[in-house]
Amino acid sequence: MNKCVLITGASRGIGKAIALKFAEQGYCIGINYNNSEATAKDLKNIIINNGGVAEIFPADISNPSDCLELGKSFIECFGTIDTLINNAGITHIAPINDLDFDCWNNIINTNLSSAFYLTKALLPYFINAKNGNIINISSIWGVSGASCEVAYSTSKAGLIGFTKALAKELGPSGIKVNCISPGVIDTDMNSSLTADDLWQLKESTALCRIGSPDEIANIAYFLASNDSKFITGQNIIADGGLL
Ligand code: NAD
Repeated sequence: MNKCVLITGASRGIGKAIALKFAEQGYCIGINYNNSEATAKDLKNIIINNGGVAEIFPADISNPSDCLELGKSFIECFGTIDTLINNAGITHIAPINDLDFDCWNNIINTNLSSAFYLTKALLPYFINAKNGNIINISSIWGVSGASCEVAYSTSKAGLIGFTKALAKELGPSGIKVNCISPGVIDTDMNSSLTADDLWQLKESTALCRIGSPDEIANIAYFLASNDSKFITGQNIIADGGLL
């Protein structure tokens, strides 16, 4: 049986690039999506047409019962899990005065609590295998803080703490837990940035450019592979030198 990976929010952006990378390496791919069934199906078809194995799993990962159901459906489909990638995320740019409670809760639940919910849902299978990887996609703003993105920065900082604590707890069971903190990556999440914003971000970056989803996917694959067998509890910053 091939190794199996579940990727949240995999229908586009960084999640899609991770799905394609792992499929290319022979993994069975669990594509979680929330709203975009058509793009999730397109991704599944691309993987299958290239000789791979993929299935789509609808779930709102901000909801604990959806996460329990998602974990159950994934195991029913593939029988095992090697890697869970908590990738799905949202942001909302606004000064804290304009951030209402619902928006705060939605960002925290989607970006942070979902990693807890899905870890709980899949932990028995990881423990049973005494092996596996949990990879959390955080952000440089979780490290440095971003003005007018207090909820997002808080959720991403939480994900780094979650990674470090969980790595200590699950290490004795042979499970690695790591985090990736991307800088500015070319995806729909940044579609609201103006050309001037993007130019300024590039200018502030040592490598003078923004990153591509593939560059994050390659790190995720490295963290799941045998090449990183002695790496756990780490937050890998991939920002082209922005911070
Ligand atoms: P994106 O907006 O293209 O993708 C996010 C995906 O998450 C989408 O497919 C969306 O439908 C899904 N999603 C959102 N809420 C969901 C929910 N409740 N249930 C299930 N799926 C849900 O953005 P992206 O850039 O590909 O972001 C992927 C991850 O990378 C996010 O966690 C984001 O915070 C992080 N990140 C992105 C950047 C960047 O510059 N693009 C930088 C740092 C970190």
